[in-house]
Amino acid sequence: MENHTKPVPLLDLTRQYKNLQAELDEAVLRVSRSQQFIMGPDIAAFEGECAAYLGSKYALGCSSGTDALIMALMALDIGPGDEVITSAYSFFATAGSIARIGAKPVFVDIEPEGFNIDVSKIEDVITKKTKAIMPVHLFGQSAEMNQVVELAKAYNLKIIEDAAQAIGCKYQGQNIGSIGEIGAFSFFPSKNLGAFGDAGLVSCNDEALYQRLKSVRVHGSLVKYYHEEVGGNFRIDTLQAAVLRVKLKHLDAWSEKRATNANNYERLFSDFQLIAKDGVVTPGKVVLPKVLPGRRHIFNQFVIRVDNRDQLMNRLKDQKIGCEVYYPLSLHQQKCFVELGHKTGDFPQSERAANESLAIPIFPELEMDELERVVEAIGNSIG
Ligand SMILES: *Cc1c(COP(=O)(O)O)cnc(C)c1O
Repeated sequence: MENHTKPVPLLDLTRQYKNLQAELDEAVLRVSRSQQFIMGPDIAAFEGECAAYLGSKYALGCSSGTDALIMALMALDIGPGDEVITSAYSFFATAGSIARIGAKPVFVDIEPEGFNIDVSKIEDVITKKTKAIMPVHLFGQSAEMNQVVELAKAYNLKIIEDAAQAIGCKYQGQNIGSIGEIGAFSFFPSKNLGAFGDAGLVSCNDEALYQRLKSVRVHGSLVKYYHEEVGGNFRIDTLQAAVLRVKLKHLDAWSEKRATNANNYERLFSDFQLIAKDGVVTPGKVVLPKVLPGRRHIFNQFVIRVDNRDQLMNRLKDQKIGCEVYYPLSLHQQKCFVELGHKTGDFPQSERAANESLAIPIFPELEMDELERVVEAIGNSIG
């Protein structure tokens, strides 16, 4: 009976593009006509607009969110022999960037409600080698930053915020990305602010750190052909900056729309009597994402928890309802980190999330009847 359900994509960027096509095409054409592909004027303009949006003194565009994290680590002189504490449950680049610059990722489990680092477990893993904490604001909701800031002060550690999924998200009224030393953002197309390809950004409030980041971005050089250190090529393309400038103006409206979709989901799941009691994963029920106190959640993803997740996922895919597992494997279980010596059971909440979580469509342009179809399909598939 549900066979004729119309498909609902997890993300459909063509709808956003259609709404802004004239402006976006014009931005691309402008760069094309200028043929200034590297460090063109759109980049400085975009950086200024981002700094203003984020409420940070400095913002620097770069090649990706991953490279933003790598730049942040390099600019803070973190490298071989150092340890960086981060969440065991995130996109791979969080830990990958730490390993890439030669430091050791030290994992901490997540708290079960918000999918973010369990701040009560950070102090246990601080050693003489710890240089920084890298909290992740996963799915668009901030980590518990007060405790992170307190610990960083007490132990003289730097904070690099992995804000790749969280541009515009707030913690106790403060924009994330400017709570720690450096905020790292991604403009991968599926993020709330998405480029026409790869792009990212770092933000900071310290002038000297800003200069270091600038240097690291272009081969460790502030004066062309004179190199103070070995950096990389972490530039953002002018084309991406031009596209992102158009989109940035719409970001808050999109984030509001995502939050509205989340509210509508809550109502619909409740109408269908599908919400699990007290947030406990129960057969036939769904645990919805929770907005924690003092947060502005921007819902980069809307991630539910269910019993028998893979079965639900397969049934939804059969009905052409977009869904995805973020992420099927906790970072400590990744093959490339086997030398860190972890085993299954080390981070039980992360492992649980990897088994129970499923992202369903939340993008701003979704129509109400699509949300209804998603909830109905879930009801039919887990009942
Ligand atoms: C997307 C993402 C990154 C990496 O960003 P890219 O632009 O894809 O390199 C890093 N951390 C998290 C949590 C992400 O979601």
